[in-house]
Amino acid sequence: MRVSDFMTVRSIAIIGAGVAGLACAQRLTSARVSVRVFDKGRSPGGRVSTRRVNLPSGVAQFDHGAQYVTARDPDFTSLISAMIDRQAVAEWSPPGAASGAEPAWVGSPSMSAFPKALAAGLDIECAARVASIDRRADGWTLSVERADQRIAAEGPFSDIVLAAPPEQTLALLGDAAPDLAGLAATARMAPCWAVLAGFTAQRSADAATAPSPPRPDGYSRAPTNGSPIAWLAHDSGKHARPSGPTALDCWVIHASAEWSRLHLVEDAAKIGETLLEAARAFMPHTDPPTYLAAHRWRYARVEHPVGQSFGWSPDRRIGSCGDWWIGPRVEAAWLSGRRLAEAMLT
Ligand SMILES: Cc1cc2nc3c(=O)[nH]c(=O)nc-3n(C[C@H](O)[C@H](O)[C@H](O)COP(=O)(O)OP(=O)(O)OC[C@H]3O[C@@H](n4cnc5c(N)ncnc54)[C@H](O)[C@@H]3O)c2cc1C
Repeated sequence: MRVSDFMTVRSIAIIGAGVAGLACAQRLTSARVSVRVFDKGRSPGGRVSTRRVNLPSGVAQFDHGAQYVTARDPDFTSLISAMIDRQAVAEWSPPGAASGAEPAWVGSPSMSAFPKALAAGLDIECAARVASIDRRADGWTLSVERADQRIAAEGPFSDIVLAAPPEQTLALLGDAAPDLAGLAATARMAPCWAVLAGFTAQRSADAATAPSPPRPDGYSRAPTNGSPIAWLAHDSGKHARPSGPTALDCWVIHASAEWSRLHLVEDAAKIGETLLEAARAFMPHTDPPTYLAAHRWRYARVEHPVGQSFGWSPDRRIGSCGDWWIGPRVEAAWLSGRRLAEAMLT
């Protein structure tokens, strides 16, 4: 097939604008393939996301999904270097980080700056939930539900990529690709309650005397002494976050997977109070928070990955990518999407 034929014949739909879907879209677009990305969220990024709240007492900003990124693979390390040059990413060394610990990178001025940089130049439609997929003689058609709840058909597309967590991938797959469905069914995700707490008053203890947050790898650390807390981060201490008298001092608390699973369907307000109380021992604040919210991530972290980089069915022209193919990190999501695109281009 000549390149010109390839370009006119091939059009790819990607469902999911998380890091995996964006990496896949970027690589395909760079090969001059026509790609459209659909995401049900309000902006690209998926589990790499930021909540910004304007209150009369000041602005609060929380990275309520991924806290930071680590880079081990050479290609992903190059991407992070390029993002540092574009000032979309900066290093984060929280107090208490062990010397020699793996560098932790954060989006600047928020974690969502990272997916935003990945999304640049791509054709992405947000607030567009794909309700079903259908393979016909002329290719794949999607049923897309927009914010006004109208459902419209999109397509046909020659190829389709599912870049959503395994449960959502399985729901869309139906019996369209039994081989992919079989693999997706082997992945297991853990939930996570994330609590966002913002304080107006000056911190009651100086940073130097405050207890140190856990080191960056504390994210995956098992809770000790029966604590429900797996991870605590001082978000206001990250690079280029809102600061000064008009900014709240912002903290993010993650419950452990076990605790989150046990309390998954409980009331968010109650979860916020309970986890804040448990986290007080590690925080410099004794005052009540000005802002307190809890976010329930049903599919937060990969507990059991499939164990290969992606799924691709060349006969049916359907693929799947996401962190859950490889492991529980942003880097894994990026590698999965990128490697799927490479396979689709060969
Ligand atoms: C609380 C928390 C803390 C974390 N901390 C870290 C950390 O510190 N470091 C780290 O490396 N990783 C961390 N992670 C994991 C990291 O966020 C993920 O590994 C990574 O973001 C996964 O990217 P993804 O593209 O595979 O999936 P996602 O980010 O989940 O993207 C999937 C996308 O698909 C969309 N979607 C799903 N179904 C549909 C549909 N039917 N129609 C349209 N769109 C759909 C969703 O809206 C979403 O945007 C954390 C995750 C959580 C939740």
